Amino acid sequence: MLDTNLNSHSAQRMHAVDEDLTQLILGHVARRLSSAETPLDFPGQKSTVDALLDGLVTSAGLPADQVMRMYEDHLSKTVLSADSPRFFAFIPSAPTKAALLFDMVVSAASLQGISWLEAAGAVAAENQALRWISDAAGLPAQSGGVFVSGGSAANLSALIVARDVARRRLVARDGDDARFRRLRIAVSDQVHSSIKNTASIIDVDLLVIDTDDHRLTGKALAAALARDAEPETIVAVVATSGTTNAGIIDDLRGIGTLARERDIWFHIDGAYGGAGLFAPTVRPLYDGIELADSFIVDPHKWLFAPFDCAALLYRDPQIAKSVHTQHAGYLDALHHDDGSYEWNPTDYAYHLTRRARGLPLWFSLVVNGTQAYTDAIESGIELTRQVADLIRQAPHLELLRDPTLSVVLFRRIGWTAADYDEWAAGLLADQTAFITSTTWEGETVGRYAFLHPATTLQMVRDTLDRTA
Ligand SMILES: *Cc1c(COP(=O)(O)O)cnc(C)c1O
Repeated sequence: MLDTNLNSHSAQRMHAVDEDLTQLILGHVARRLSSAETPLDFPGQKSTVDALLDGLVTSAGLPADQVMRMYEDHLSKTVLSADSPRFFAFIPSAPTKAALLFDMVVSAASLQGISWLEAAGAVAAENQALRWISDAAGLPAQSGGVFVSGGSAANLSALIVARDVARRRLVARDGDDARFRRLRIAVSDQVHSSIKNTASIIDVDLLVIDTDDHRLTGKALAAALARDAEPETIVAVVATSGTTNAGIIDDLRGIGTLARERDIWFHIDGAYGGAGLFAPTVRPLYDGIELADSFIVDPHKWLFAPFDCAALLYRDPQIAKSVHTQHAGYLDALHHDDGSYEWNPTDYAYHLTRRARGLPLWFSLVVNGTQAYTDAIESGIELTRQVADLIRQAPHLELLRDPTLSVVLFRRIGWTAADYDEWAAGLLADQTAFITSTTWEGETVGRYAFLHPATTLQMVRDTLDRTA
């Protein structure tokens, strides 16, 4: 027979109030958030992390303080901090203190971000943050959407809607067989890899449009449509408002105007660069963004939210809802037809259960105010201009294009891929910076991405000095 007493004791133990554990974890968080500059730390060797983790999963469990000490002293040192002001690779991260801390509030709340029924106040607060973004883009009052895990999930969800809308229209016009036509999405050669993934997942083809200087324009799209044998199968165009590799903003007005005329879904991927909407010095470059049928921006990039958070907005959310709403007997309770206000975030992307991951952004926005966001974004743009000047002035360096936002591409004359790697390895070894090279027009080149307001020109100079 089971010892029911013992059993129920161990069943309840891990849900019981535990002040010591609470203080242990909050202490760790407090130490991390109090360090003047988040350390970069290092990549980890598999043998090292395997040795640390070996045998940790046991039947009876281990003391939390022991495990936490191992995490803080060892495991966490093999994690590169994307929020270090010396992180210049990929796209860095720089969550505000308010956003990081409120993320813990979200975690402690177990709030199910699916529906109005379950999380009205949280959903409304998330929507307030979404409204700030859609207003900056000039989208209409009825626009709306949802926070999803990242730009990839946002691009996928938006383009599923684009495909289904186009397919419905083709079927209405040409009959049922039109369901089987190959559909295409027009892109530039700089489109993000997640769009290529999306095309594969939703089984559409990409039409890569020739561009001058890698910037997609309305003119280039018009030429491609004119040349195409089956233009009616081009159902969407993806413009990027800040390419990840080089920071290029496509000709949104030209593309959007043409897309409108031709009934082509206009999607704008602003995962990285969308934040520039809030920076007056570059805002004119986004002219035409208000024409978007769908628009995404990652707050976990340049809007200073913690991972993982992407904002997905639709000009007409009802269309997205008609594509993404999941129907099941047990979910009927979420939907009511009595005309009362209802906004179920789950209806606007391919997911069901969701973390209310827009709340850290919302809290930080409300606490810090919008001007702080503008200033912080502008500081990254200003730093980028200064770094570009340093590179222009150095005889052994070449700036590959005038930076638009906060990405710098440069060449160290005479360097091969191995030289860039060696330079980067040295910088990481003594924690000066984390940098990775990229390819541009077939060549390995140097690349910086900035967005952390605590990054100084001197930190960048320290890295450039070592290219001499
Ligand atoms: C980062 C990025 C993505 C992908 O976003 P994730 O949040 O990493 O999924 C998509 N498009 C662009 C332009 C990006 O910069």
